[in-house]
Amino acid sequence: MALRDLVYFARGRVNRTMSRLLTRRAGPPPAFTPAPLETVVAGPRTPLALTRLLESRDNAARQAAVARYLSARGVPFARHPFATFEGSGENFAVDVGGGDRTLVLIAHHDAVPASPGANDNAASVAILLTLLERLAVAPPSRLRVRLLFPACEELGYLGARAYVRATPPSGVVGVLSLELCGIGDTLAVWDATAETPFLGAVRAAFESLGRRADESYHVVGKIPVFGSDHRAFAAAGVPAYGLSVVPAAEADALRQFVLSPVKSAISAVKRRPVPFDTYHTRHDALTTVDGAALDMVTQSLETLVAAVAAR
Ligand SMILES: [Zn+2]
Repeated sequence: MALRDLVYFARGRVNRTMSRLLTRRAGPPPAFTPAPLETVVAGPRTPLALTRLLESRDNAARQAAVARYLSARGVPFARHPFATFEGSGENFAVDVGGGDRTLVLIAHHDAVPASPGANDNAASVAILLTLLERLAVAPPSRLRVRLLFPACEELGYLGARAYVRATPPSGVVGVLSLELCGIGDTLAVWDATAETPFLGAVRAAFESLGRRADESYHVVGKIPVFGSDHRAFAAAGVPAYGLSVVPAAEADALRQFVLSPVKSAISAVKRRPVPFDTYHTRHDALTTVDGAALDMVTQSLETLVAAVAAR
């Protein structure tokens, strides 16, 4: 076992404890009412509608719902079950397109206990499932797009770490992990510590949609405490970043919040900036997620796929 695994494990525990404290402060968890699974599977394939695939379900049901959706849609997918001393679960991977270069887009399917897990991370799973529909119509010919749905992100990216260990990334040109993509109008790429060709493609894609650096999209360096599945790929030397959406009006408050997380955690009783006001709490419900934000991210990713494929 690598030292890094212990660090991840500890971080996962801290996450869980913080989430329990936040949830406790908010009072007893309400009874969550998930949408009937088969209704969602047979229903409209928009990101907002598909957010109901996972929202308000427990982790076993969330994992099963992803597999059920892909099976029902006739999508071939790889299953990557794993079990370690830290926990167990199943990652799913769907490939679209072909070629020897791979772009990996990630959305974890698990949530912290006692949270409906809508913005973290049902919305991101729904974005990738919608993107899948669009890419399937005209798959990129010079690029393989791998949509990865890991389990146990909330346990220190356990699923992604197990995936990278079992499937060392070769030919992977870039990785984006979607987290908190359902509230706001401004794209944030984070953990981007250096300019890379992949980051250049991300910038080009966003700018081709009329976005401007430091205005309607932000590139942020290493963020302490918060993290996501992309870090398992970054540890393997691949350009790998987090992707989130934030409200432009909260940009300054968010910068302070994510860059001084210990202070932020201590002052969590005060107002936390959106989207962290619901993050890991029972208030992370479908009603807070904005369909326009989800559509915007889906379109941005579709443009990114084209930009990377053209390189
Ligand atoms: Zn998450």
